[in-house]
Amino acid sequence: MHVDGRLLENNTLIEGDVCIVGAGAAGISMALEWDNTRYKVILLEGGGFEYDPKIQQLYAGKTTGQHYYPLMSSRLHYFGGTTGHWAGYCSPLDPIDFAKRSWVKYSGWPITREDMDPYYERAHKTLELGPYDYNMSFWQKREPAMEPLIENDTVVWNKMWQFSPPTRFGEKYKKNIVGSGNIYLYTYANVVNILTNESGSAIREVIVKNFEGKQHRVRAKHFILACCSIQNARLLLASNQQAPRGLGNDHDLVGRYFMEHLEIKSAELWLIKPAPLKLYMIDFGVTKARAELAIHSKKQEEFEILNGTVSLTPLEIARKVKPAIESWDQQDPRKSVDSFLGNIIKAEKESPQPVTGSRSYELFTRIEQAPNPSSRVTLGEEIDGLGVPRASLNWELTPLEKRSIRKIYELLGQELGRAGTGRVTLMDYLWDKNDYSWPSFTGGGWHHMGTTRMSIDPRQGVVDANCKVHGISNLFMAGASCFTTAGAPNPTLTLVALTLRLSDHLKGLMKHKA
Ligand SMILES: Cc1cc2nc3c(=O)[nH]c(=O)nc-3n(C[C@H](O)[C@H](O)[C@H](O)COP(=O)(O)OP(=O)(O)OC[C@H]3O[C@@H](n4cnc5c(N)ncnc54)[C@H](O)[C@@H]3O)c2cc1C
Repeated sequence: MHVDGRLLENNTLIEGDVCIVGAGAAGISMALEWDNTRYKVILLEGGGFEYDPKIQQLYAGKTTGQHYYPLMSSRLHYFGGTTGHWAGYCSPLDPIDFAKRSWVKYSGWPITREDMDPYYERAHKTLELGPYDYNMSFWQKREPAMEPLIENDTVVWNKMWQFSPPTRFGEKYKKNIVGSGNIYLYTYANVVNILTNESGSAIREVIVKNFEGKQHRVRAKHFILACCSIQNARLLLASNQQAPRGLGNDHDLVGRYFMEHLEIKSAELWLIKPAPLKLYMIDFGVTKARAELAIHSKKQEEFEILNGTVSLTPLEIARKVKPAIESWDQQDPRKSVDSFLGNIIKAEKESPQPVTGSRSYELFTRIEQAPNPSSRVTLGEEIDGLGVPRASLNWELTPLEKRSIRKIYELLGQELGRAGTGRVTLMDYLWDKNDYSWPSFTGGGWHHMGTTRMSIDPRQGVVDANCKVHGISNLFMAGASCFTTAGAPNPTLTLVALTLRLSDHLKGLMKHKA
């Protein structure tokens, strides 16, 4: 069922069993799980079915610290959310990513990769991925030309990625949501405030507003915020009528530990003989799986480094492509995507690759960022068109990121040299011993994580192992804001899996109470 929030009578009271805020990857995944159940599910979406500049403006905000993309263009604010722009790269986190690592402060999820496996498998269906199998041998059987650069995987291994079409949630699932008998989608229903009971122990209602000057109230037994990481933190912080520091923020953690994947060119690979390196190449819309090079968890432990992966692009192409941080510079996300993709397509056209492959490749790093309390989302001084303080992002890296990248290439160079395959030359910035300095082309993957991190200890995290906000009985967070650490893979597969896990937990709770 679909209701346009602008057409409702002012001050309508909407009531249901479950209220999900935000219809992006997390919100839609969650809602679909409840289709055809006896529960009334309210799905609140701030935008409509199409891009709307006035709604998108609500995402504008300031950035400080490490240079970042404009906040307004790094997400999409309408039905389907940022999946309208995502590229579909998917891979699960490794077991070590969930573990407590003595050399990574604030690491250690209260759940393991084993806990996540059944949900990863289910998330594969939502994201239209292939079989839940990330063994290189499985994919090599389908495509024998996928030969690894390094056979011995005790230091460097081949971590597989799968590619979603990419699923555009707004297009793929609109019919299912709108046609559902028990899911009530309200568009133009922007949540601007969350109100608790007197003691602050439970959510009473949320307030939604739109630019038609209408305001409505929504009541439910359980509330799930699925508005993306920056927005999840912003809403909790801005809901400060009853809790002056914001909801779930007794320990000043909401918005802190913002993490991105640092994405940066780092080295060149010069092969002894040209090779197409099919295992590592990507052809959008065609490639179902490919590998990136990664460091074995035992070596990460030995050298006390972060988890990261290395992708390869023929050097002739890579040298012509502008870094993402330079090409994705427009406030309007549609213009940014055009300039970003246009630049890649042009470089590929200008440098067609011979079938025998290239002799030289650019090595590009995607690495987790160490959790850092100073890397954070706060409320800015300016307010948006609906009266909510805008988000401010201070993106801050630590020396561990740079030290880890340097070590990854040192190990990779040694392994390729030993195998007689080729040699690796590091970029100048990695020779600079100042681990606080980063070159101008340092970018991120538009992956926002960690702002309502998970921990069983309320002094260490905002949500518990079931994504419930500590101290509030009926408020849950869905999305990468719950990540304790980032791992190297892009976040959407993991955030959808975590959302399906949350959905099961909630169903259990409601069954119990029925
Ligand atoms: C260019 C680009 C490429 C990417 N490529 C990849 C990739 O290859 N692989 C990968 O894993 N990830 C990728 N991502 C990231 C991916 O898009 C996000 O991880 C994912 O969309 C996050 O899902 P979400 O549901 O948390 O947030 P979103 O998808 O952003 O959805 C949030 C929803 O909440 C709504 N909303 C916000 N505030 C409110 C409010 N106050 N009231 C009501 N509704 C509200 C929004 O309108 C939106 O619909 C990419 C992102 C970008 C920008």
